[in-house]
Amino acid sequence: MSEEKPHGLGTMAVHAGQQPDPATNARAVPIYATTSYVFNDPEHAANLFSLSEFGNIYSRLMNPTNDVLEQRLCAMDGGAAALSLASGQAAITAALLTICHAGQNFVSATSLYGGTWTLFTQTFKQIGIEVRFFDPDHPEQIDDLVDENTRCVYFESLGNPKNDVPDFKKITDTAHKHGLPTLCDNTVMTPALLRPIEHGVDVVIYSTTKFIGGHGVHIGGAIIDSGNFQWADDAEKWPEFCAPSPSYHGAVFEEALRPVGNIAYVMHIRTHWLRDTGAAMSPFAAFLTLQGLETLHLRMPRHCENALAVANFLENHELVEWVNYPGLPSHSHNGMAKQYLTAGAGAILGFGIKGGEAAGKKFIENVKLASHLANIGDAKTLVIHPASTTHSQLTPEEQASTGVSPEYVRVSVGIEDADDIIADLDQALRATA
Ligand SMILES: *Cc1c(COP(=O)(O)O)cnc(C)c1O
Repeated sequence: MSEEKPHGLGTMAVHAGQQPDPATNARAVPIYATTSYVFNDPEHAANLFSLSEFGNIYSRLMNPTNDVLEQRLCAMDGGAAALSLASGQAAITAALLTICHAGQNFVSATSLYGGTWTLFTQTFKQIGIEVRFFDPDHPEQIDDLVDENTRCVYFESLGNPKNDVPDFKKITDTAHKHGLPTLCDNTVMTPALLRPIEHGVDVVIYSTTKFIGGHGVHIGGAIIDSGNFQWADDAEKWPEFCAPSPSYHGAVFEEALRPVGNIAYVMHIRTHWLRDTGAAMSPFAAFLTLQGLETLHLRMPRHCENALAVANFLENHELVEWVNYPGLPSHSHNGMAKQYLTAGAGAILGFGIKGGEAAGKKFIENVKLASHLANIGDAKTLVIHPASTTHSQLTPEEQASTGVSPEYVRVSVGIEDADDIIADLDQALRATA
């Protein structure tokens, strides 16, 4: 390989992982609508199954369209290998259940997406996995939660919807001190605004449904393995990668994959989790995601610029009690935002209307340009009342710990003209008075 200067993020968003199609010279990434791939000969087939050669077997495990997406996300985040999955929730589940089994536990920040909270506190509990929570403002709490059965530390790069910016360095340093990998859901920031691996994170997780796809047209997820966590340093603790796999003809993943890189973790998910649970992203979804990804570096600055303009407008509005946007000097985590969110504080903001929950609902009934729906990260501006929707499965105490107060209205600020977004929010606010 030549020692060329690495491409910038925008160039990677458009080109990484792709050559013109070798079979047809197609410039765009083709949608490889195929379930399976013809083996060259029996030896080729055997090599693919034994991991001694990489190639395509079956689209539950890999697909050339998805492969471009995986390589592109991996390049943009500075990882070693990546995997696409059917949804963000599929990615979170696979990322954790690969290293955490019945009788074990992991440590998680409390600021979580509602679906993740329910997965951790309900479904994981049912399968014998305990989740121990720490306040992300106090990473030192991790010290008291870890025991010999703890498997990792999990957090979100910007709490959705709490908008608290975690101290990446303290969290990852504390986890590493205990010999634990860190997993970070970077859905709300995307690699255009924040690359968690640069701050010590070992595994990055995405719901590509949101900003990466960017247009609200598909559900998808991804896992990026930094290749930095050294499983082999404590081979007894990590038999998943360092001992023979009974369900993969005795292969020792760590050893088998060493020549290619420290990618045993993500390859284990592909060869075991995807094989067994089938939570694969369809090639069509991968294609749509790639269309979105090509403009991520253009959209995210616009999202941030609009969000800051909306936050400033709301903060000065007579009918608004409080505004939660980490890019505002008034925000409790503005100092942390200045340290970590140097490219912009994202598109998600929350605010409380004078008149509380009832006024919040009335506001939502009256928006016209903004859409009332359960999603974030669309090009279009979206609004929702989390306490009665995305976070309604949580108790009031749990809602409070994830940052959801009864009057909280969440806005995912789109890439329309800021003036038009502001005018719409203003008329809806006036309708509540
Ligand atoms: C939406 C979301 C998820 C879940 O992703 P799906 O693609 O909907 O399964 C996970 N984490 C965060 C932060 C999200 O916003």
